[in-house]
Amino acid sequence: MLFGSVLVLITLALLGLVLGSFAGATVWRLRARQLRLDAAAGEKAAKAERRQVEKLEKRPLSKDRSVCLHCGHPLGWRDLIPLVSWLSLRGKCRYCHKAIGRFEPLMELGLATFFVVSYAFWPVALAQPVDVLQFAIWLVAGFGLAILFAYDAKWFLLPNVVTFPLIGLGAFNAVLVVTTSPIPVAALFSVLMSCVVLSGLYYVIYVLSRHQWVGFGDVKLGLALALLLANWQLAVIALFLANLVGTLVFLPQMLTGTMKRHSHIPFGPLLIIGWALAGIFGMQLLQWYVGIVL
Ligand SMILES: [Zn+2]
Repeated sequence: MLFGSVLVLITLALLGLVLGSFAGATVWRLRARQLRLDAAAGEKAAKAERRQVEKLEKRPLSKDRSVCLHCGHPLGWRDLIPLVSWLSLRGKCRYCHKAIGRFEPLMELGLATFFVVSYAFWPVALAQPVDVLQFAIWLVAGFGLAILFAYDAKWFLLPNVVTFPLIGLGAFNAVLVVTTSPIPVAALFSVLMSCVVLSGLYYVIYVLSRHQWVGFGDVKLGLALALLLANWQLAVIALFLANLVGTLVFLPQMLTGTMKRHSHIPFGPLLIIGWALAGIFGMQLLQWYVGIVL
């Protein structure tokens, strides 16, 4: 039993590294696509940045990322092993020795950590096929959300091409939760309230602030996250933790004045962190909290 769990953990860690690498490449591919659309619409800034990622864009999809962004040298298999290549080359290109940045290894480590922690602390025993299916949905969602996390942190945008499939995946998850629940009506109500908490609230802020404080992307992301949690209590915890993390991260910047009042805070990454923590630890947090209060 224990040996089997260790084997699953190692497998998930390796899978996370490989999928994290793929997610990182997808972020650049999406950016190239976005800039192509922006440039076509006549945005000047997009044209300058476009040149930087053009090397990536011109490659056929199967050969994506297989070239150094600085020198254009094609990368071999030993340059593309997740994490190992980056560590052995100390973050520099093997051919031109320029720094290749921390983005790729962070994506790889981030998703591997998410996979491992999810499995190690998953609140439900993976005994029934439906439980395993829900856990698999969670991991697939984590892959898509890793892409959105990086994209929103870098460019303050949540591309629909990732958000919409996540809403679809969330809807499938919600149907699964409701139909397998002993009290389907209560489960359905919980799903709807979850959507109100995570998406409805952002929609109200979006309308009241006249699109200034949050974007509609946050509203759509909130809907995907709400459906993926499919539980109103977990949704409340996710929102609370997102705000808590946001305060811890951005308050020092606000106090020291390095952040201006109108600086843009990317809500996407915060919501995604809140979602991950709520989904994995939310039930334990809730029991602990109820134990204190009662
Ligand atoms: Zn190079």
